[in-house]
Amino acid sequence: MLDPTTRDIKYLPGVGEQRAKLLNRELNIYSLHDLLYYFPYRYVDRSRLFKVNEIDGRMPHIQLLGEIRSFEEMGEGASRRLVAHFTDGSGFVDLVWFRGIKYVKGKYKLGVKYVVFGKPTIFGGRANIAHPDIDLADTLQLSEMGLQPYYNTTDRMKRSGLNSQAMAKIISNLLVMLPETMSETLSDSIIQKYKLMPLDRALRKTHFPGNVSDLRSAEYRLKFEELFYIQLDILNYSKERKCKFAGYNFSKVGDMFNRFYSENLPFELTEAQKRVVREIRRDVNRSIQMNRLVQGDVGSGKTLVALLSMLLAKDNGYQACMMAPTEILAEQHFSTLRRMLEGLPVRVELLTGSTKQKERVPLLAALAGGEVDILVSTHAVLEDKVNFAHLGLVVIDEQHRFGVVQRAKMWAKSHIPPHVLVMTATPIPRTLAMTLYGDLDVSVIDELPPGRKPITTRHIYRKQIGEVYAFIEKQLREGRQAYVVYPLITESEKIDLQNLEEGYARLCNVFCNYKVGKLHGKMKPKEKDAEMQRFASGETRLLVSTTVIEVGVDVPNSTIMVIENAERFGLSQLHQLRGRVGRGAQQSYCILVTDVKLSDDTRKRMEIMTSSNDGFEIAEADLKLRGPGDIEGTQQSGIAFDLKIANLAKDEQLLQFVRDIARDVVDNDPDCNREENLVLWRKLAEIKLRSNRRWGAIS
Ligand code: ADP
Ligand code: MG
Repeated sequence: MLDPTTRDIKYLPGVGEQRAKLLNRELNIYSLHDLLYYFPYRYVDRSRLFKVNEIDGRMPHIQLLGEIRSFEEMGEGASRRLVAHFTDGSGFVDLVWFRGIKYVKGKYKLGVKYVVFGKPTIFGGRANIAHPDIDLADTLQLSEMGLQPYYNTTDRMKRSGLNSQAMAKIISNLLVMLPETMSETLSDSIIQKYKLMPLDRALRKTHFPGNVSDLRSAEYRLKFEELFYIQLDILNYSKERKCKFAGYNFSKVGDMFNRFYSENLPFELTEAQKRVVREIRRDVNRSIQMNRLVQGDVGSGKTLVALLSMLLAKDNGYQACMMAPTEILAEQHFSTLRRMLEGLPVRVELLTGSTKQKERVPLLAALAGGEVDILVSTHAVLEDKVNFAHLGLVVIDEQHRFGVVQRAKMWAKSHIPPHVLVMTATPIPRTLAMTLYGDLDVSVIDELPPGRKPITTRHIYRKQIGEVYAFIEKQLREGRQAYVVYPLITESEKIDLQNLEEGYARLCNVFCNYKVGKLHGKMKPKEKDAEMQRFASGETRLLVSTTVIEVGVDVPNSTIMVIENAERFGLSQLHQLRGRVGRGAQQSYCILVTDVKLSDDTRKRMEIMTSSNDGFEIAEADLKLRGPGDIEGTQQSGIAFDLKIANLAKDEQLLQFVRDIARDVVDNDPDCNREENLVLWRKLAEIKLRSNRRWGAIS
């Protein structure tokens, strides 16, 4: 039977050619199915009337019943507005319009009973409602209105009359037209066992709920389904992948690993590092390709874990490649590895975009000839000309800067896919990791090397900057080093660069007794490198920089991180930046500088930063504040989040819950052919066809 919801929306009553085009372009809605799954973003109880004298500044949208006593035009230019003085006898509220003044004045009459609907605010002691919805009171049957759906629409849609109300009308036409019961998409056993509302009813009730309890059940059912199919896809794909991809077998723990461990390792591994190394060894010893994500907070010692894994490759006759997102970081890894491997016959080389032709040619030959054991590189390694003799392991540091395509290219450099170890210092909240990397195994380094003192973080306003300078001065006098970071975001690059330059000039002036350095992304790689080198060697004492120092840079003697315009950074980024200090034995400090006027969100972010040093906690908070679409890394991960109703930040528990249910299905029905599950497999196939992408496929 053809699914009726695949039909084009233009044939739906109330839509037509023009509106269909608008819906296509503005909301990506093409079929009846798309429309059916375009859910309200909120509901408003329109059965209740409030009194003007009940209004306070924190109310959601409310309804008032009363009349307009007079109109008044006020202000000029951008603040020109029309004010209607509205009363219900208990007090006055100002209805305010900044646009459509003439239209409003012509439409609404004095002394007529209206129902006014909107979100009240208190401004200068007066209650007002901007751009309210207004209906004639006697045309409304308040008691019958119940929970009203509100749909997001764009400006362009609103201008063509396709506002929330019009959307509600179209969708109600659709629901009338649909067959009595839409076919179910979950199996009977799941619906019964978990007491879910049938799909048909759930869809109708999310659009027009009637009451709150129906709405909750309907939402639960739809969220359950959405998350369930994501997990089913991931787990099913992961099962296929595990069967499908053979991998190299690193069966030996040989000479290099052991010699490094006993002779070169300058300290004891932390328990967490040991555990993760064990997990990796187990993975690479099964003739199945490893795909493992290692999460570890900044400073948790991921580099060492990578190095030990690469020595395993070497001991088994394979080459390893470590990829970093920036040249600075690649160079730093290169010198760290060389230093740590001193005295061992392991050849480590560096290849970046700035490697000179003269060095590049012999390097590529040595790589293809199998003489290089470990290559540290950037995106430069992805070029077709770069070939390995036998690449067995790829380590990707700070994976969020690498996309799916790049990883696929690395695979192509080997006969069978090399083992892949992904390391991230942006701790990805568990919910997100489960969804993004459902087919990756996850290891967590949840322990910092001993002796680290927690970083002290303070939030201060710009006018107190003098105190900060005094503090920096004191630390510099004691021999420490400091960073001052300015935001640099592409859209406003020019202004930002100017801020950085001004800041640099000011700091040179204030700290004229010390050498001050400057680092930003616009500099040539060579200059950047030289600047970084001067700081690492201690010649430069204060480094004024943009976020290019965000990842990985390791200068243990620096103890102060000042972040200017901290309000412009996300939480995870602030945490990353903060991780540049606190790497040595000295007490370190992070100082967040902002203006006095802050949004609630920013204030919250500053509070979280000053109260927590835990990257995972911060990442969770970030997810809650910003929503998953904005989390650093997810855009580049190649997976778009287009959840229609579930919310990864808020529905974590449900996600875990359905994951177990999906796992049961996959485990008990390995060939995907059990009668009772057919509806599930069919639906999964349909979802994948529709979305043309797979959640599970990331490597
Ligand atoms: P990240 O996880 O942020 O990449 P690094 O690998 O750069 O961290 O390690 C941070 C610092 O901690 C380095 O200077 C490293 O030498 C040191 N380190 C790593 N492991 C240990 C350990 N087990 N004991 C002491 N210091 C360690
Ligand atoms: Mg690192």
